[in-house]
Parts: sequence; C-alpha cells; structure tokens
Amino acid sequence: MSTATPLSYRVTHSDKSRTPAERQAMLAAPGFGKYFTDHMVAIRWDSEQGWHGAEVRAYGPLLLDPAAAVLHYGQEIFEGIKAYRHADGSIWTFRPQSNGARLQRSARRLALPELPVAEFVESLRQLIAVDGDWVPGEVETSLYFRPFMIADEAFLGVRAAKKASYYVIASPAGPYFAKGVAPVAIWLSTDYARAAKGGTGAAKCGGNYAASLLPQREAVAQGCSQVLFLDPVEGKYLEELGGMNVFLVFKDGSLVTPELSGSILEGITRSSILQLARDRGMQVVERKVTLQEWRDGVASGEITEAFACGTAAVVTPIGQLKGTDFSVGDLSAAAGKVTMSLRKELTEIQYGNAPDRHGWLVRLDA
Ligand SMILES: *Cc1c(COP(=O)(O)O)cnc(C)c1O
Repeated sequence: MSTATPLSYRVTHSDKSRTPAERQAMLAAPGFGKYFTDHMVAIRWDSEQGWHGAEVRAYGPLLLDPAAAVLHYGQEIFEGIKAYRHADGSIWTFRPQSNGARLQRSARRLALPELPVAEFVESLRQLIAVDGDWVPGEVETSLYFRPFMIADEAFLGVRAAKKASYYVIASPAGPYFAKGVAPVAIWLSTDYARAAKGGTGAAKCGGNYAASLLPQREAVAQGCSQVLFLDPVEGKYLEELGGMNVFLVFKDGSLVTPELSGSILEGITRSSILQLARDRGMQVVERKVTLQEWRDGVASGEITEAFACGTAAVVTPIGQLKGTDFSVGDLSAAAGKVTMSLRKELTEIQYGNAPDRHGWLVRLDA
C-alpha cells in the first residue's frame, strides 16, 4: 500500500458546535462514551481509488445504504486511544503508532483496507485541530478517540467489500473510578468463548464484542462487572476479559500474563505494563496459565494480586474471581500494591508527570 502522498483534508466547521459554556458543562461530568465532540474525521476508500476524500466535518449520523456489507456481515474494526492534557495545556497521545499498526492487523483479518499508520496518527491530529478544547484537564480525565472502519459497499454477495469508510469520533472521559480505584469481581464464563481458534480474537472487531455481550449480561446478574474467558479449544487456559487483558502477581515478585495465543487481543496497555515491570527488574513471564493455577494460587497465597488492563480503565484490580461452583479472593481487601504502583507509573507517564523513557508520547496539538 502506498504511503507516498499524504491525504489532504477538507475541513468544514460545524454550524451546530456547542458553546464554551455547554462544552464546559459536559466536561465537568463527562462519564464515559456519553458526549461526543463537535466534529468527526471521515476518509473513504474504494478498490479503484484507494484512500481519498479525507475530511473533518460536523459530528452527525452516517448515511448508509441498507445493503451496506457491515450491516449484514459485520465487516468492521475499531480502535480505542486517548488524548491527555498535560499541566502546561499541551495535548498528547500514547503510542499511536501501535494502535495504527494494530488497526492494520485487524484490517487484514477482516479483509478491510489498511490505512497507513502515518494517516492514522494524522487523523487524530486533524480532529484535535478543531476539537482540542474538548480535551479535559482534570486528574485522570481524557478525550477518548474511537477510530473505526466499516465496509459500506451496497452488495449482498459474500465477499470482501470494495468500498469502506474510516471514521474517528471522540468522547470526553472522566476518571474511570469516580470514587477511587476499587477492586472488581470477575465472572468466569464456561458456557461461552469470545473467540475461536483461527477466528478473529486477535483483531479488534465489533463481532468479538457482540459475542461477549450475553456472557457479560450473565456476569452482571452474578454481581460481577466483567467476564473472564478461557481458551476456546480446551477451556482450561486464561485468555482475557471481554475488553481487557489479565495479569497475575506472584508472591515471589514475578508478573505473569497469558501468552498471545492467536485468540487474545494484544493490548497496548498490556505491552506497556510488561515493559514497565521489566524496567523495574521484575521477573516478567508470558506463558499459558490454567484456571486451576489461578484458583489454587489465590487460595494458597502464592498469587497475591490480579488485575485487568486496557486503555479505557488503564489498570483495574481484580478482587474476586467467581464461577458457578467456586469463588476465590476477597472483594473487600484493598487493591494490591504492585497493581497500584504499575497503574500510577503508567498514568504518570501518560499525563506528563514522569519521564517518558520509551518515547511513547506523541504531541497532537503542535
Ligand atoms: C482493546 C482491547 C483490549 C485492550 O487493549 P488496549 O490497547 O490496552 O486498550 C483487550 N482486549 C480486547 C478484547 C480489546 O478489544
């Protein structure tokens, strides 16, 4: 795919932009995924012209042909990445080249076109150029970008679509844990898997999420906030939560996470935590972990902490693991020390309060 000619953007300002006062009211209590900024990025693709028609325009509904492939065959992928406001007012994002590369891998698996990584990063800059005022400045707040791509060719035959569109929308996000970081309970799903061997588990696609919603509802009915999925072949090894990777901390100080199995989504938070832990001299292991090892390890005290991680919630301590016939861990216990210090180290880098040793930050407003 050619990366020689950068796309040029046509920018059309919304005539329905919120007033500064309206925006401030939303930024004061943004929640998550509830409010959207005034503009969006759109780029079109077809098999003849490639990527073209890049624009920033008013945020608003899409006009889709009812025969658009995405509506019938789920040919869709997405990303999740944040913009952070630093103390001096500047706006930064975290490892966007990794998200851009992952969007390309997801595109390959879903037979969608690959957007050049530089264009992915540029699309975030373009949105910040018009909607930068939507990046909140309070502690642990951010602007969450949701880049996504859909197949929008109007054709019901089953094959990869010859037309697609890429969009970026953005939503201000408050602190994920409004009352301070608190351990959550996790439900073990044994009836369902989120992804199959050879399936789309390693791609960030809507279909994986659709498959996780019924078990997620089951989890909530059991008083849990998230689902843990096991490997789809033997139903024995830990994979991940519906939208977060999982880590265990051992008494001997080592950090363990399930190795990438082909059906696990490779989180950028996961890879950053692995790096930070290695930098600390911790023993870091990516390997197969059985459910039995987790249950026994928590019961014996061998496993001292567990946490989940992803861009939205950063790092979430897991207090308890529940299944139909067992439960381990104590939800009322305080969040683990290693968990909380890794969480703090990562957020300090993201918010510009600690040195960016690995060159992970990219400035978006300059
Ligand atoms: C996005 C996602 C993650 C976390 O990835 P990050 O890059 O850390 O945000 C983990 N699992 C699944 C299934 C995901 O979709």
